[in-house]
Amino acid sequence: MAHPKEFQIAVIPGDGIGPEIMKSCVKVLETLQANIGGFRLNMEHLPAGAEYYRQNGIDISEEAFEKARQADAILLGAIGLPDVRFPDGTEIAPHLRMRVEFDLYAGVRPVRAFPEVPSPLADPRAAKIDIIVLRECTEGLFASHGKGEVLDDREAKDTLVITRSNCERFFDFGFRLARKRKETGGKGKITCVDKANVFRSYAFFRKIFTERARLFPDVTAGYSYIDAMALDLVRRPWEFDVLVAENMFADILSDLGGGIIGGMGMAPCAEIGENHGLFQPAHGSAPDIAGTSKANPTAMLLSAAMMLDWLGNKHDHQPCIDAAGKLEAAIVTGLQSGNIRPMEFGGPHGTEDVARAAIDCIEI
Ligand code: ATP
Repeated sequence: MAHPKEFQIAVIPGDGIGPEIMKSCVKVLETLQANIGGFRLNMEHLPAGAEYYRQNGIDISEEAFEKARQADAILLGAIGLPDVRFPDGTEIAPHLRMRVEFDLYAGVRPVRAFPEVPSPLADPRAAKIDIIVLRECTEGLFASHGKGEVLDDREAKDTLVITRSNCERFFDFGFRLARKRKETGGKGKITCVDKANVFRSYAFFRKIFTERARLFPDVTAGYSYIDAMALDLVRRPWEFDVLVAENMFADILSDLGGGIIGGMGMAPCAEIGENHGLFQPAHGSAPDIAGTSKANPTAMLLSAAMMLDWLGNKHDHQPCIDAAGKLEAAIVTGLQSGNIRPMEFGGPHGTEDVARAAIDCIEI
């Protein structure tokens, strides 16, 4: 039998529930690699985050940052603690630096209704929600991270940046994604979410979206202002497909998205660039439930499935793509059959129970 293809994975458990959900995720990945075969994940754990900052005065060592750069993929739990801040009051966030340094411009955040997961929306069509919030991750308002200024305790400023070259590749990524989803039964729709009626930067963002739309005539392009989208994501989310938005707006929309599909524990994320990929749940470190084993690891597991799928496609390696499909299918089966009932929405299953049930549901 051929040797399994090896991948170097930088594993950053992080803070709060991060280490708990990561531990479960590593077990699931080890089961997949042992039972499906054809690939080997060399997972190296790297310390980073707020707790690391509290103890060491830095959020990640240079060595660990470079290891993350060299890795085939980065798998991250969650980073940040409310009581640990930089002297200027901002959050400890080495992953934000990674987004910029590793050029992870496309944040793919699926908002998808899963079977037997209760949605706070009463309308039965909520069971059909299947959206990708595509978050621009390297500029927008977050370009000001670490650069904002407070003038004489009188006035504060942060600057939003939108560049043509980045928008072009970001929108193209979104159009290609909508096209790919259309091939497998998706709506083939993309909606540009902005505030082009008020700000020049967002009008520029929308103008470039319109230009790129002409190159993808098979995809239906539409527009929405961010405030209207906040309303529509509650009123008629089942009508949307791919949403493209600036960094800050998409950050907010993805939490709203997590809310309408039952909770943040169901919201995975892949941050993708030309050469690097970072995979982490869309939620934060949930310090309110850290250490209780109550965290739902599903978003972490789904993020790991996205990692396997991305690695498989990037390296043209079918076993990884198969493993991704099997992991996602196991989660769907587990939810459908009642084997996965996370505490996050009233079930009896804690972090390890969910991971164990997912492992039991993997079809070999
Ligand atoms: P950040 O700004 O770092 O993304 P946040 O402020 O959005 O973080 P989260 O840490 O995502 O906050 O938590 C929001 C709420 O969702 C909290 O009540 C938290 O307990 C809950 N939550 C988040 N992730 C999970 C999870 N995996 N399982 C269960 N509950 C979760």
